[in-house]
Amino acid sequence: DKERLRLPKWLKTPIPLGKNYDQIKSQLRDLKLSTVCEEARCPNIGECWGGGKHGTQTATIMLMGDTCTRGCRFCSVKTARIPPPLDPKEPVNTAIAIASWGLDYIVLTSVDRDDLSDGGSKHIAETISEIKKRNPVIFVECLAPDFRGNHECIERIALSGVDVYAHNIETVEKLTPFVRDRRAEYRQSLKCLETIKKINPNLVTKSSIMLGLGETDEQVEQTLKDLKEAKVDCITLGQYMQPTKRHLSVIEYVTPEKFKHWEKRGEEMGFLYTASGPLVRSSYKAGEFFITSILK
Ligand code: SF4
Ligand code: SF4
Repeated sequence: DKERLRLPKWLKTPIPLGKNYDQIKSQLRDLKLSTVCEEARCPNIGECWGGGKHGTQTATIMLMGDTCTRGCRFCSVKTARIPPPLDPKEPVNTAIAIASWGLDYIVLTSVDRDDLSDGGSKHIAETISEIKKRNPVIFVECLAPDFRGNHECIERIALSGVDVYAHNIETVEKLTPFVRDRRAEYRQSLKCLETIKKINPNLVTKSSIMLGLGETDEQVEQTLKDLKEAKVDCITLGQYMQPTKRHLSVIEYVTPEKFKHWEKRGEEMGFLYTASGPLVRSSYKAGEFFITSILK
């Protein structure tokens, strides 16, 4: 039996809740909207909901239910071959709630729905256009599935009015078959990101990598290069945390210094922004980073 790694001190910090937290929380209750931030008890909630220097508040909403057709070995979302049907009212109801909420930046994420012929792309695109219709100044980031590389599905999202189109590569090429569901391929994800830029060059694209799964520095460096070659604009790097004992073990707690190194490498390579740190998640302060980078 392998000894479990001790949690290093930089991951034991208390969660600061910030001044806007209570206000957003009570709004959420009234709107009957549930966020990934709360459900995943994300440690960044104070920073994301509080807004940074530019006061840009970010929150993440999960679409298409709580059951995924895939079973990635790092992810705690439940799996079924055929999850319950989509709620046809979800796009409009979500949009109404988000529009009346007054946030600046919303991240939409979803489970993968390989059981649906369009992978759920119509549902996601409809949600985005409904949000924009009601609040044209809100920035929408969509963290989308790979749609198994289906051009039509990717195009639907890329032309939906979305501002930032994100798709996560998650890990280095070598570890992909052990970490992600077998239908998720490294090259397919790169191609997907490349396709988005070809369809709509004005879109900002984004991808994320988890560290601590046993990858080498050379492999991380190569992944950054691959993402750059696929014309990805923004990247985030964060520590992988094991959600339950049935999930992949943490091989290494990557030091804050190493995360700083990757942030520097990202900047040197010319990404629009690189968010890198032990607690960074794909949507970490996404609005604040986005605004800061476009004002640069
Ligand atoms: Fe989790 Fe996404 Fe993988 Fe589904 S596709 S298991 S939601 S990481
Ligand atoms: Fe929410 Fe993402 Fe920020 Fe966590 S990192 S609080 S999930 S927006």
